[in-house]
Amino acid sequence: MARSAAQSAPSESIADALLAWYDRHHRELPWRVTPDRQQAGERADPYRVWLSEIMLQQTTVQAVGPFYAKFLALWPTVADLAAADEEDVLKAWAGLGYYSRARNLKRAAEAVVHDHGGAFPPDAAGLRSLPGIGDYTAGAVAAIAFNRAEPVVDGNVERVFTRLFAIETPLPAAKPEIRRLVATEVPDDRPGDFAQATMDLGATICTPRRPSCILCPLRDRCMALRDGDPERFPLKAAKKEKPVRRAAAFVAVDPAGAILLRKRPGTGLLAGMSEVPTSEFTARLDGDTSVDAAPFPAAWTLAGTIKHVFTHFELRLDVYRAELSERPATNIGWWSTRDDISGEALPTVMKKALACAIPDIF
Ligand code: SF4
Repeated sequence: MARSAAQSAPSESIADALLAWYDRHHRELPWRVTPDRQQAGERADPYRVWLSEIMLQQTTVQAVGPFYAKFLALWPTVADLAAADEEDVLKAWAGLGYYSRARNLKRAAEAVVHDHGGAFPPDAAGLRSLPGIGDYTAGAVAAIAFNRAEPVVDGNVERVFTRLFAIETPLPAAKPEIRRLVATEVPDDRPGDFAQATMDLGATICTPRRPSCILCPLRDRCMALRDGDPERFPLKAAKKEKPVRRAAAFVAVDPAGAILLRKRPGTGLLAGMSEVPTSEFTARLDGDTSVDAAPFPAAWTLAGTIKHVFTHFELRLDVYRAELSERPATNIGWWSTRDDISGEALPTVMKKALACAIPDIF
């Protein structure tokens, strides 16, 4: 439960205080149209806002920067992305993780072009109908690109609001309450800037550890600060341990140094991505994750075991390597040279496996 803000009640609204701060201290981000540029008549491009928001899910601003620049160089408009080859999109995405986002990106671009005449729907409900767009992204694009008064709540905003109102309900149960509180504060005139201001405050001032409350424009009304322990918020429900699955991966190296890769099935985990031949990922202790699961007989040696955490389980992957004197008669994939390997659509777990077998590969 949140405590009442009326206890503090400074005359300036949360939105006024935040927007005044944002006008002076906003972050410069490649996809952002800052207040001074808005005043000069520039408007946010829905394609760029949407692209950045999809990339920023589960990924930091720093990590997204180069990928965003690469996508815009390859596909400057939503029509270009809709016409792109899916394989090329997956390759350009490789390294950002959560690859279903890349496939949905392509499908959403196609839907915008084929079902909406090439223009993004201008409201949250229309945006939510596109593949890969949930409540958060729909609200963010509607607010930032179309100036709709939508509550936009990401992890940063959750932290700011649970502290401001000293919300004692743990996450994720507190989400509806946070959303309701944010909705009451969104100003009609600058909803997009309000969303970005709250995100910026969470990213730069109201940080998870040691928030810089002395610099915060909302310090006069912050209940967590008044109680003396802002870091206590947000409260979080105890995490369940993820189940463990095991598997074996096989890095076969031909005499010229090329590596055998194959494509994963078109549905399911890491669908359509590239991988070295790998056993099934299994939770069974008697599952076939030993060298017996190798794609062909060779002098396989264990290079090491890597861990990778997926959304629903942790994978422990035994990585085997074999130096071949000639390529085996197999048609399970293709041989990727050392020059080509970094351009393959390899998910992070496979990059880790390759680096375990061949430390200087990337
Ligand atoms: S005063 Fe401190 S804890 Fe409260 S919102 Fe500002 S930075 Fe966060």
